[in-house]
Amino acid sequence: MTATPLRLGLVGHPVAHSLSAVMHRAALEAVGRQGDYALLDTPTEVELADLVGRLRFGHLDGLNVTIPHKQAALGLCDRATAEASALGAVNTLVRSADGLVVGHNTDLPGLVAALRQAFPDPPWVGGVCALLGAGGAARAAAAAALQVGAREVRVYNRTASRARQLTEDLADPRVVPVASALDALAGATLVLQSTSAGMGTQPASPEWEELRVHAMTALAATSAEACVMDLVYRPARTPWCAAAEALGRRAEAGLPMLVEQAALAFALWTGQPAPREVMARAAAGALR
Ligand code: NDP
Repeated sequence: MTATPLRLGLVGHPVAHSLSAVMHRAALEAVGRQGDYALLDTPTEVELADLVGRLRFGHLDGLNVTIPHKQAALGLCDRATAEASALGAVNTLVRSADGLVVGHNTDLPGLVAALRQAFPDPPWVGGVCALLGAGGAARAAAAAALQVGAREVRVYNRTASRARQLTEDLADPRVVPVASALDALAGATLVLQSTSAGMGTQPASPEWEELRVHAMTALAATSAEACVMDLVYRPARTPWCAAAEALGRRAEAGLPMLVEQAALAFALWTGQPAPREVMARAAAGALR
């Protein structure tokens, strides 16, 4: 019996820049599954609720959720994994056999996998992680830092109230808000850059260069052995990664995490292992 075509998509705003469609279309083709992955620009929560309803009633088979809906989408799920509930954010919605919308967070295991791949001999175990940002991605990043062995996660965000909210929601005494970037970065052995600063900039443009110079100053406070992961994946060479490398720190941008979280979502929707290499090649090709 031939499986019915899968109707998958990404809800968020904006979504035009997303690499998810190229990755998932390439994956469907590679495993011989019919279907499509649509970029569903969803500016409002009313539209979000409508699309989640379409998933619930079987008009769609799976959704990814991105900026700005990861937290709101959790409230629209019939059920969520313990991990997604604890983070207060979902990025993957699956319809269960009994017609319920189940929320997952594949950003967390995606980031854990990307950290392990990029930095096989981590200097941060038992040390401090500086977490920059307090949006949806930062929630997964805080949990990932603890999972890979950081002793403490210091959260700095431009809007201080949001960092406080994140730490209150995660309710883990190891995750603490701090008042300045320096407070977070001083002596840190892991830096998770989870703000969207630098996203969409052109390498060597005045905006990119300005952020690189700022990042050089900030990262100088970290431990000399620190590893820096910037969740931003466009441009492929981010100002934070360029600054980290200039200071002799190891650095990785967001593409491996993006591929990992997508591969985990693909496996949830299809019930079969994702062709990671194919997805990574498709994403890297689309970034060029
Ligand atoms: P949100 O919109 O939820 O949060 C954005 C965060 O960035 C906030 O902390 C915000 O601070 C901060 N910020 C935005 N602009 C600036 C700036 N100019 N200077 C300092 N801080 C700034 O987004 P997400 O958390 O969902 O995503 C953040 C980034 O991570 C995005 O670039 C996204 O593409 C990337 N990402 C990558 C993934 C991957 O797989 N590689 C997965 C998920 C996200 P404030 O609260 O003060 O506004």
